[in-house]
Amino acid sequence: MKLQDSSLLRGQAYVNGEWIDAKSGETFAVFNPATGDELVRVPLMSEADAKAAVAAAHEAFKQWRTTTAKERATVLRRWYQLMQDNMEDLALLMTLEQGKPLAEARGEVQYAASFVEWFAEEGKRAYGELIPTHKQDARILVSREPVGVVAAITPWNFPAAMITRKAAPALAAGCSFICKPAEDTPLSALALAELAHRAGIPAGVFNILTGDPRALGSVLTGHELVRKLSFTGSTPVGKLLMAQCANTVKRVSLELGGNAPFIVFDDADLERALDGAMASKYRNAGQTCVCTNRFLVQDGIYDRFVEALAERTRQLKVGSGTDADVQQGPLINAAAVAKIQSHIDDAVAKGASVVCGGKLHALGRTWFEPTVLRDVTPQMQVATEETFGPLAPVFRFSDEAEAIAMANDTEYGLAAYFFSRDLGRVWRVAEGLEYGMIGINEGIISTELAPFGGVKASGLGREGARQGLEEYLECKYMLMGGI
Ligand code: ADP
Repeated sequence: MKLQDSSLLRGQAYVNGEWIDAKSGETFAVFNPATGDELVRVPLMSEADAKAAVAAAHEAFKQWRTTTAKERATVLRRWYQLMQDNMEDLALLMTLEQGKPLAEARGEVQYAASFVEWFAEEGKRAYGELIPTHKQDARILVSREPVGVVAAITPWNFPAAMITRKAAPALAAGCSFICKPAEDTPLSALALAELAHRAGIPAGVFNILTGDPRALGSVLTGHELVRKLSFTGSTPVGKLLMAQCANTVKRVSLELGGNAPFIVFDDADLERALDGAMASKYRNAGQTCVCTNRFLVQDGIYDRFVEALAERTRQLKVGSGTDADVQQGPLINAAAVAKIQSHIDDAVAKGASVVCGGKLHALGRTWFEPTVLRDVTPQMQVATEETFGPLAPVFRFSDEAEAIAMANDTEYGLAAYFFSRDLGRVWRVAEGLEYGMIGINEGIISTELAPFGGVKASGLGREGARQGLEEYLECKYMLMGGI
């Protein structure tokens, strides 16, 4: 398969409106996880490159912040339209670098573009306030201002959407933006930069740095001209970056790991629960932070649920993401495969049984069989660790209080799902779950319209919705006296 527009495949970084190499001249390879082939080489940038990008973004910010929300919206709207017009190429690039099936990649491009469209509009509503005064001759005004230069560090599982979900509100608010995408998947980011360039986003407002995570990260979290960090990735790295930001007291948004429970009560609509289970578990081969990590199923429906889930799981078509009808592509790398296998081995050693799958797929290397485990207990690794793969461990519970306690028994608090038709139970469980997002009789919750984010070790702040814009705005209080 070939790109219709080959200029969307870039082998350079994008800084200050220009395509550039690393100052050192060094590069690194980007691989196709389905074949192991090298796709292209990109610059291996380091501290000096990051400092130059921060300086450029700071210069650009001075102008960008003075534009009107409508002017910014016009440019963002063009960027959105270019994503739509180049949908097929963006999807193909994503499948090549990340592995997800083309249909899912198209879905992600659409999702990525939706943030740009939505925040282009929402930027116009960054309203201030006039607060009833405390003294007759003065007025209290509150205005909203962009926070400044924003740095983003993004993961490989959603190579486009995790960037636009940060960039769109940042740019709409009047901030300039520097992103370091994951080293596995910089191509979607660079293609977005090419489209940003064509859309007329001014030089220095949107920048993509490729390279050494630690070196780039140390500048992006340590530089005093960067006023905010928005990170999506693992909890350990999020904690580290948050600590690195402490010295310059940056604003921080973190979207970290999850350990999503998916609770099925006896009174659930079984077919609906199964639809939700398949979507929430196997999307992106289980490699999303909101993918179900633990199925918690009530005694009365346990056996039927396990059988039906295994039946559907066996039918998943596994293969290369570019092949038609494939539902599960390769995993990102060998380490991801090893982690799933170790979770299965640990569970089986402690008494769980494999209902289907359970081992490396016949395609080898980075493919893993979609797997269902039954008789899983809280003593097993899968109870506390995020598997990030196509593994569905099914735990058992007896009553509502036990389900809520099991669901909350984790350091994480990102997404949770539950299925019930009892109205009272729906309220009790929804309020009892310590999570930032709850799917009630729904297995897919992501939309640009709603605030996405977690509590506890799953992060800080929200992305999408009006809350997503707040993250990029400071409020300024002005007391205007002598009236
Ligand atoms: P994952 O387990 O999903 O790969 P990571 O948290 O390791 O999650 O990676 C998410 C992003 O964080 C990637 O862009 C990666 O390059 C970056 N990253 C990882 N370690 C560091 C670090 N020490 N400093 C800055 N960025 C980092």
